[in-house]
Amino acid sequence: MEALDSPLVVLEDGLIESVSSREAAAMPEGARHLDFPDLVLVPGYIDIHVHGGAGHDVMQDDPSGRIAFEKALARHGVTSYLATTVTAPMDRILGALDRLGNIITAEELEGSYSGAQPLGIHLEGPFISSAKCGVHPTQYLLEPSPKLFDEVWDASGGTLKMMTIAPELPGASETIAAARERGVYASLGHSNATYDEAKSGIRAGAVSATHTFNAMRALDHREPGILGAVLSEDRLMADIIVDGIHVAPAVVEVFLKAKGLDQSVLITDAISATDMPDGFYQLGPFQVEVRGERCEYQGRLAGSVLTLDKAVRNVMKFADWSLQQSIILATRNPATLIGAENKGAITAGKDADLVLLTPDGQVRHTIIGGRVI
Ligand SMILES: [Zn+2]
Repeated sequence: MEALDSPLVVLEDGLIESVSSREAAAMPEGARHLDFPDLVLVPGYIDIHVHGGAGHDVMQDDPSGRIAFEKALARHGVTSYLATTVTAPMDRILGALDRLGNIITAEELEGSYSGAQPLGIHLEGPFISSAKCGVHPTQYLLEPSPKLFDEVWDASGGTLKMMTIAPELPGASETIAAARERGVYASLGHSNATYDEAKSGIRAGAVSATHTFNAMRALDHREPGILGAVLSEDRLMADIIVDGIHVAPAVVEVFLKAKGLDQSVLITDAISATDMPDGFYQLGPFQVEVRGERCEYQGRLAGSVLTLDKAVRNVMKFADWSLQQSIILATRNPATLIGAENKGAITAGKDADLVLLTPDGQVRHTIIGGRVI
């Protein structure tokens, strides 16, 4: 991403109308004008893996809670997100997809947002491995099939955008191919796959990996496993939880060296406890205990209370990347991954989703669809 000193960004009807420098262009006549001399203007952050926040879980049926959650996301610079479900009884998942699908479609038609905009749904489970399910309840895991995928797709009203899937499960390749046909991005994760099994998932059409290192067979130098495939495969994007708890800072550096500036994506995997005091919080069908920055269920990590602005700052800290490089992992790359062509950059014609940051990455203002939130 190119940097511009003293930029002039003109917004109109929720879109970016033009981008130039103040020396090169005059202020359009009659335009309302906001000046932010000491701040850095970056594209709005996109979180493709978030379960909730501000006390709200996306699988919960509570409209006021959802608005509070979307406003909380916006305070952390997130302008759009994928509502991410967890494994639950299938009828409960289908119910949540139906409800979320209706909300996403209605908000899109309306076109105005009081907080971060839901771009679609990320289905995390039930098509995952029982050996690497983390806190997802094993009794509700299912073998994937194109038929089951269709049920999920139909329930979401076509708003399903992403699906985490373990490629070693019987039926996984066919299901990844079926998802691809619908324009749903398959991401390899919660998986005990060997290197070859992971490669077959990529051949079938998987385009990314979900919370790399977490809930994944470990790297072995003789059986590289799914991690060996994820880190070495040029065609694959991969996301990671950079909270300093899920993955050690040194391993974040290894990840960034392997996946580079164009294929690394930051996610939060944040749960309803985010921006809330310590206590017990809902994650899909179960309760998670939150103390400080740790979320646990029966002694296992259960999501996070990470926010995406902090993840960006952590990349600067752990890997010594610049702000300009680090924000790419939360803007351009997730937009590319989920085909959100009108987001992730500050160029004419894109949605006016913008964040104003201090030079060390603290969020000062968030603009969604041209409106300061
Ligand atoms: Zn998750």
